[in-house]
Amino acid sequence: MTAPIASPAAATVFTMVLTRGPISRVEIARRAGLSSAAVTKAARPLIEAGYLEELGATEHTGPGAGRPASPLDVRAEREFFVGVKITGDALIGVLTGLRARVLETAHRPLPRAGVERGVNEVEPVTGGEPVAGGTEPVAGGAEAVAGPADVESVVAALAGLVAELRGRSPEYGERCVQLGLSLAGDVDKASGLVRYSPFLGWRQVPLAALASDATGLDVTIENDVRALTTAEQWFGEGVGLSHFALVTVGVGIGCGLVVGDRVVAGARGVAGEIGHIPMGGDEPPCHCGGRGCVEAIAGTAAILAAAREALGRPELTTGEAVERATGETVGLTTGETVELTTGETVELTTVEAVERATGEAVELTIGEVVERAHGGDERVREVLARAAHAVGLAMAAMANLFGPARIVVTGDADGLASYEPLRELLGRTFAARAFGAAADCEIVLRPRAFEQWARGAAAVAIRTRFTLRDR
Ligand SMILES: [Zn+2]
Repeated sequence: MTAPIASPAAATVFTMVLTRGPISRVEIARRAGLSSAAVTKAARPLIEAGYLEELGATEHTGPGAGRPASPLDVRAEREFFVGVKITGDALIGVLTGLRARVLETAHRPLPRAGVERGVNEVEPVTGGEPVAGGTEPVAGGAEAVAGPADVESVVAALAGLVAELRGRSPEYGERCVQLGLSLAGDVDKASGLVRYSPFLGWRQVPLAALASDATGLDVTIENDVRALTTAEQWFGEGVGLSHFALVTVGVGIGCGLVVGDRVVAGARGVAGEIGHIPMGGDEPPCHCGGRGCVEAIAGTAAILAAAREALGRPELTTGEAVERATGETVGLTTGETVELTTGETVELTTVEAVERATGEAVELTIGEVVERAHGGDERVREVLARAAHAVGLAMAAMANLFGPARIVVTGDADGLASYEPLRELLGRTFAARAFGAAADCEIVLRPRAFEQWARGAAAVAIRTRFTLRDR
């Protein structure tokens, strides 16, 4: 299928109907600064190709206009898109229609090289590099380390996942030409190159080309936080806003920025790293090599470490517990199966599973921290308050720089839950430190299911297919 967009006017008209439809031609012309004739001319081939449809004449265009207008809308199932979020240990896939509504989901675990190669032979995943985005779900905490993921096997698993999703209905197979991939790290959308992926251990991997060869689809890759921001810009909280920000909290703290209707990628692929805004002190050290970064105070691992200390519970980490129970040094990844010194084999899927298998009390979970805060445990509330304060300051710094109309704070449910008891404090810190009218910015807290990251990848694919400037 060739791209249905042949001119800038067609891209403008289609985008407007996609994000704001149903909408009348007159309204499109007014908002886009096009003549009514230009809108009609641009819309005609899109209607003929089945991407747009005319709804029944229901509204009058204005006083004295006489003729009722037939609003245009998108036929959302004219074409389908696959979006996949690639994490360090799994592929999360969705299939959507044109409006990025999720129709199908599928997951695949990724095999990792860490276990066979031994943990000492590979670099730690968090070694001195800036990490864009980063909300990796790792059972038992961020200490899990594995070797670089084998590119070929990831691409093969990806092809399998895409085939599975497209195979669920004949129309998915026939009318899907574009695949979007998103992952944390330094991702160059224009060249299709993953410059650096901390969780996969990849450098300079031409992922778009490899995935295209394996699936036969056009492939767009994007940083995961920017992909999520694109989904909000086109289909969520950002519709109609020229300036807004998305802040993600969890293991990492990231930010997507939309400035003047564009998702900012920075001159070198790094932008919106509010997790590494320095808070002024020399403590605590951050994995980026800096000190006193927001993420080192308010990331999930930092909250858990501080809560352990505040509660006087210096338990083992999950890694230490497993090492003690297995009698060897292992790289631990989600879902890994290990053999204990008792000869028993267990699958370590969650912190609870590790505790059951090893008989050791291991570290706190973020769920327990939140529960304690809700129960009024002041020690834990103080830890969370420090985290919320740091995020509030970082958001104020960001708002002072570019003045967004709205900031959407999101993340995995667990990470965001830790801010929920402190929503008010977050808002108060922000309001106190944002300058002038920048403080009028609306703050919205939105938990997101993990599939939403994959939906973000699909949204990038949709945007790429229907805008000319993104090619
Ligand atoms: Zn840092």
